[in-house]
Amino acid sequence: MPCQILDIPLAHSAPGSQSSVRMLRYGPAAARPKAHIQAAVHADEAPGLLVAHHLIEFLDAADARGEITGQIVIVPYANPLGLAQFVNGDHLGRFELASGRNFNRGWPALGKALEQRIGAQLGNDPEANRSLIRRAISDVLGEITSSTKIDALYLALAREAFDSDLVLDLHCDDEGLMHMFARPEIAGELSDVAAEIGCRAVFSQPASGGSTFAEASAEPWLHLAAAFPEKQIPIGCLSATVELRGFVDIDDRLACSDAAGLVNSLRRRGYLAGLASPVPAPLCDITGFDACDIVRTPDFGVIVYRVELGDEVESGQPIADIVRPGVVGNEARVTVRSRAKGTVITRRLKKLVAANQVIAKIAGSAALAHRSGYLLED
Ligand SMILES: [Zn+2]
Repeated sequence: MPCQILDIPLAHSAPGSQSSVRMLRYGPAAARPKAHIQAAVHADEAPGLLVAHHLIEFLDAADARGEITGQIVIVPYANPLGLAQFVNGDHLGRFELASGRNFNRGWPALGKALEQRIGAQLGNDPEANRSLIRRAISDVLGEITSSTKIDALYLALAREAFDSDLVLDLHCDDEGLMHMFARPEIAGELSDVAAEIGCRAVFSQPASGGSTFAEASAEPWLHLAAAFPEKQIPIGCLSATVELRGFVDIDDRLACSDAAGLVNSLRRRGYLAGLASPVPAPLCDITGFDACDIVRTPDFGVIVYRVELGDEVESGQPIADIVRPGVVGNEARVTVRSRAKGTVITRRLKKLVAANQVIAKIAGSAALAHRSGYLLED
């Protein structure tokens, strides 16, 4: 059967400008396992848009061969609101202009509500618990109402995604190598996906405090498992945020290869018939996100990097100079050092920065003392 194309209208659009979000469903709506792969919740992060295009081509071909055995939902552009936010020629897709909200923060965390609603019904049969929790997720999301357009978008995506077995949220960084974020309980379960797409870092990240889309997808299961350790609660949704390199790393060869890796993972996991090729050797270990130095610039200025993406650096090693415009003498350059021993995973694309902006992420393996509390970038 050809894929089902769903255009979900978003409530609270201005008259004459009805927004909608598109989803492509491969396989029947009731089929399991169910995967949800979406692109560009941060609407200016275009690599995912091209990967989704190639995923659709692969899945159309697989569908024509009758190979779809589960259910795969592709959201080729997850954020129509941000997609339209061109301001004076620049695309601003990370924050909603109307509210200032980061499009990948504040997704609904349902765990507490589920604990109260179905806690007493959970038992010792993991499959019965799985079905009960899935139904309750849908029920709770069905009862939530939206009062703004961004909340309407959140609800439309959450209602489709949150009962999935697998959720991959496709993003990208500024300048970056392929990397991935997942909760510690999940990161190891997705190591095949990370290896397929060639991740150079896999960050195991406890609850960030930001409730990203990927975190919120898995949160009900992890919350209930922690609240009822004596019950058999499976992790019913494996979710990750995938960072498809940097903003400018976009071409057909990369996107096609990324999509092929994802399709191979889906095949291995039973979404598609046929034999998957073996998992490639991983290019990195799973490391704690608290061991990743998120380097911020101490001052306004122009960044001159001393390291490239992929370089291995020592703790204390200078990685960049910030050149302060108009400052004369020794004060003109401020040297920025890494606090981690590890791999340079991201750098900043635009080299003029305000004070305290992030200019690099360095993936180390030992937890850093200064890294605690809210761990995400803004
Ligand atoms: Zn993003």
